[in-house]
Amino acid sequence: MNSTLRKYRLAVQGGFFLFIAFLGFRFWQFVQHFETRGKTPFVPHPDGVEGFLPIGGLTSLKYWLVTGDIHPAHPAALFIFLGAVAVSVALKKGFCGWICPVGFLSEHMYKPWQKLFKKNVKPPRWIDYPLRSLKYLIFAFFFWAIIITMDVPGLHNFLDGDYWKVADVKMLKFFTNISPFALQIIVILVLLSIPIRNFWCRYLCPYGALLGIAAVVSPFEITRHDDKCVHCKKCTRNCPAYLAVEEKGKVVSPECTSCMTCLSGCPKSAITYSTPGGGRSLTGWQFPAILIGIFLSVYLVALATGHWHSYVPMEDLKRLVPIAGSLQHP
Ligand code: SF4
Ligand code: SF4
Repeated sequence: MNSTLRKYRLAVQGGFFLFIAFLGFRFWQFVQHFETRGKTPFVPHPDGVEGFLPIGGLTSLKYWLVTGDIHPAHPAALFIFLGAVAVSVALKKGFCGWICPVGFLSEHMYKPWQKLFKKNVKPPRWIDYPLRSLKYLIFAFFFWAIIITMDVPGLHNFLDGDYWKVADVKMLKFFTNISPFALQIIVILVLLSIPIRNFWCRYLCPYGALLGIAAVVSPFEITRHDDKCVHCKKCTRNCPAYLAVEEKGKVVSPECTSCMTCLSGCPKSAITYSTPGGGRSLTGWQFPAILIGIFLSVYLVALATGHWHSYVPMEDLKRLVPIAGSLQHP
């Protein structure tokens, strides 16, 4: 069962990663059509790429809350954002541990180091703690700037403006026309992610910070059963979040990504993922089935209510896509 769980996770992570890569390619083709002024075939806009616009998703959420309407430009950004939060509310940070492509890549950056040196570098507490708070500060800034401060005219100014209409194109161009400064930052992040597990997720990702907060209300918890445990410390050694699972009865940490590495690697099956008091345990296929089920349900609700496909007029796309890289935030 343990190796089965590992296989399920790899299949879910790999499946999402390949699907996102496919969407990325289709989106590149979509952009090419407008950049070449119609010389390449038109490809429909793959709305799933809006998962890369979580800040826009948060802005759309505020717009929905204050106006009662869902903004027609990039509504999928809102629904993917809600899907990630819903997964966290139900299954702790399952989005980070099972779906997010950045988490998937990050994991495969630190594993070679782990295999070679038997462990990764864990920064000392005096630097680890302040650095971990950075992602909460970044999230708090966005929360304050969008949810607290933005009024209806400000929301219209952003969501109706040219910048938001092609924010996804601008995101693509950030990578395809990357500036030397941005490239240096990415190289530094990659280099730090080789010795240190999940450097970006652990210290800097504001999305992960929000999902960690949402995970507090999840009905599930990771429990180590002392009667079965032989204190081999394998769970502690392998935890991607550097949590000392072997010393705890329960894992109560917003850093836990529900990756199940501790559970699937335990030689004595001494760890469970269950409701409090060892109630309902999720085994094998149940976790990934619920995770995918939640995500799929959110997508189907968006589709059925007509809030999945982005509405940006063709004339605007023709005008804005070729100049998206130079548009400034309003
Ligand atoms: S891996 Fe299992 S047996 Fe080993 S310390 Fe952790 S809970 Fe105990
Ligand atoms: S405690 Fe277990 S599930 Fe949580 S991050 Fe560590 S290994 Fe993954």
